[in-house]
Amino acid sequence: TRHYLQRIQAHQALNAYITVTEAQALEAAAVADQRLADGTATLLTGIPIAQKDIFCTLGVKTSCGSKMLDNFIAPYNATVVDNFNQAGAVSLGKLNMDEFAMGSSNETSFYGVVRNPWNPDTVPGGSSGGSAVAVAAGLAVAATGTDTGGSIRQPAALCGITGLKPTYGRVSRYGMIAYASSLDQGGPMARSAEDAAVLLQVMAGFDGKDSTSADLPVPDYLAALNQPLSGLKIGLPKEFFGEGLDSGVAEVIMAAVAEYRNLGAQVIEVSMPNLNLAIPAYYVIACAESSANLSRYDGVRFGHRCANPQDLTDLYTRSRGEGFGKEVKRRILMGTYALSAGYYDAYYLKAQKVRRLISQDFQQALAQVDVIMSPVTPTTAFGIGEKLADPIAMYLADIYTIAINLAGVPAMSIPAGLSGGLPVGLQLIGNHFSEARLLNIAHQYQ
Ligand code: GLN
Repeated sequence: TRHYLQRIQAHQALNAYITVTEAQALEAAAVADQRLADGTATLLTGIPIAQKDIFCTLGVKTSCGSKMLDNFIAPYNATVVDNFNQAGAVSLGKLNMDEFAMGSSNETSFYGVVRNPWNPDTVPGGSSGGSAVAVAAGLAVAATGTDTGGSIRQPAALCGITGLKPTYGRVSRYGMIAYASSLDQGGPMARSAEDAAVLLQVMAGFDGKDSTSADLPVPDYLAALNQPLSGLKIGLPKEFFGEGLDSGVAEVIMAAVAEYRNLGAQVIEVSMPNLNLAIPAYYVIACAESSANLSRYDGVRFGHRCANPQDLTDLYTRSRGEGFGKEVKRRILMGTYALSAGYYDAYYLKAQKVRRLISQDFQQALAQVDVIMSPVTPTTAFGIGEKLADPIAMYLADIYTIAINLAGVPAMSIPAGLSGGLPVGLQLIGNHFSEARLLNIAHQYQ
């Protein structure tokens, strides 16, 4: 724990942490020593990890990367945080992220840009950029992230680490600040599939406090890691390898797929004809849900409140106007528009129908193969500021990750190699609740 606390100090320029909970971490480490001594330790006891600042942490600032919650001390723990505490893990602090998890570059945080340790002039990806950087730069052994449209996998890919977005409902969302509730899912970010398996074991499971939590037993994720891959059927959707994919990234992905062939896998082409509709459908649904979720920040109950409000409308208007950043406001406006009477059928309902088609594409493809492989991102890490002025360009960077959330299936990003000196992630996509198989496939490659 001391080693990591020192490293966090030495690498402040990366801006990975919003809050470092040094005193609590040292206390938890002492408790862990005791558990090791008395034989009640688990695999995670004493392991220094860190939480994305979207998970409510009792007595600790939980900002969600926003000025709106800069003064918010959570009065309870997210289930994920409780689970890690019970396992005896040490939390080093809270990690930087895009404001309310809206972004693909970690440039929308109220606490400033996070830098990619591979090249500090490039972005780490987002929204779990702080988590990816903490793991990549050795500022925590592992971290939590959340993924609504790619926020675990995309930063994992751009920072050269392993990230897993579980099946929707596998990890409790209780105490995880909501962005788009039908898409949000927490998951592990780590240096290897094996580490991710250890984390997921603790994170997954039924939680009565989350109405969308899956009431299914949690398999032993470590036990499955060493199964051989002979006979594995891999599907490559041609739509994931078309225009817009950088040739250097494509080369690394195809080399990784060839490696799987050497391990005994069979590779076939599959098709997902509705993939090109994923970005528009996602940005309608995610913005609509976020506009509803973010209506709770009204300056009354918690969060930022403007000074000297004249009346209730002034209180709402100025508190929200001052508390939210530009990207969050843009999404609230788009979402409110899509949900308003007269436009609901044309936008929201239409997007839900497209969502169903995309889901069917995945089911058809996954009926033919065990796993789908694809790139995670069309390019390696882009420059800080490069896409900030053009939100559409930023949204397009999510092309390979977003459809997975619409379908609710699990997916991983694993380090596949370098292109131009920067990491490339290989995406593994499986059917609902196939996390053990995905971890196994990832582990055999690593
Ligand atoms: N980049 C996507 C967005 O901005 C995904 C973010 C996420 O997964 N939280 O909505």
